[in-house]
Amino acid sequence: MRNYYIAGNWKMHKTRSEAADLARALVSSLKDGKHKYLVAPSFTALETVGALVKGTNIRLGAQNMAAEEQGAHTGEVSVLQLKDLGVQTVILGHSERRHVYKEDDALINRKVKLALKHGLEAILCIGELLEEREAGKAEQVCETQTVKGLEGVAASDLANIVIAYEPVWAIGTGKTATPEDADAIHAYVRKVVGKLYGADAAEKIIIQYGGSVKPENASLLMAKENIDGALVGGAALKAETFVPIALFA
Ligand code: PEP
Repeated sequence: MRNYYIAGNWKMHKTRSEAADLARALVSSLKDGKHKYLVAPSFTALETVGALVKGTNIRLGAQNMAAEEQGAHTGEVSVLQLKDLGVQTVILGHSERRHVYKEDDALINRKVKLALKHGLEAILCIGELLEEREAGKAEQVCETQTVKGLEGVAASDLANIVIAYEPVWAIGTGKTATPEDADAIHAYVRKVVGKLYGADAAEKIIIQYGGSVKPENASLLMAKENIDGALVGGAALKAETFVPIALFA
């Protein structure tokens, strides 16, 4: 039985005091929550939020990291610096990183392997563009991103990998994939993981859905066999919308 895993990606929002207010509200509202939880604030608020979620059932996540451990990489943040702040998980390959900042599968794969090397959990985001879906290429795109993202990842490290299926056309647009469409891609990606690592690994891997998840659609999505949680953007910015998703029945 897979555990549900609900993660909030706060993107480039919130000052430290705003982030602290939200973290405090979530710590209190989710303390009896039955699922696995994560918040991923901006780098600037990691220390503040980390102090508030430490010892609770909410993990601390970062939204990205560099592919190198350290060095002359102006503006980047390293895995060592994240670990120093108590970060447990890093989101990698988010569609905004892939499409706005032009990160490719090879770069994302290096980040995945570096995160694993340092004991971080990695949420590997995959997902097709609207034109790729319309051209009937959604499965192919997700397969390629999964295979290339996991290249060289040992089976023994797979417990620290979460996949987030986020169709790009559904992110921040208010358009959600239907639970059936999302589940079909999740099932396909699970099969891809099975081909790479075997049936047991495929059965165990957590595959989150992301793309305009809201309190109104969370339980319908989560009811699907292959949807094991959510990576939430917009609705993660307020306790009023994130808590009902996180506590979905
Ligand atoms: C995201 O950024 O990962 C996301 C899914 O955003 P939203 O929930 O706003 O669509």
